[in-house]
Amino acid sequence: MLRPAGTVAKVSVDGELWETIDLAAVAAPYEKTVETPWGWNTIRVSPGAIQVIDADCPNHDCVKQGAISDGAIPIVCLPHRLVIEIERDE
Ligand SMILES: [Zn+2]
Repeated sequence: MLRPAGTVAKVSVDGELWETIDLAAVAAPYEKTVETPWGWNTIRVSPGAIQVIDADCPNHDCVKQGAISDGAIPIVCLPHRLVIEIERDE
């Protein structure tokens, strides 16, 4: 299966870049937890997509948002000041 090249997810906490993940280079899905000063978010990184699968925020909006695979709508966890956005090089 062909994956788009240069699909990079940027994870930021409180406006500071926490990690850059090249989604096009992900061979198999894995999970990681982001610890912010306000709480934690568990992220699932998949080939070409990223999502928040669990968090201890009160509203779980970030979890309900599901997976994103393009730059249309970033994942935002307002209580934790967490933002995940995808940049794609065309
Ligand atoms: Zn949240």
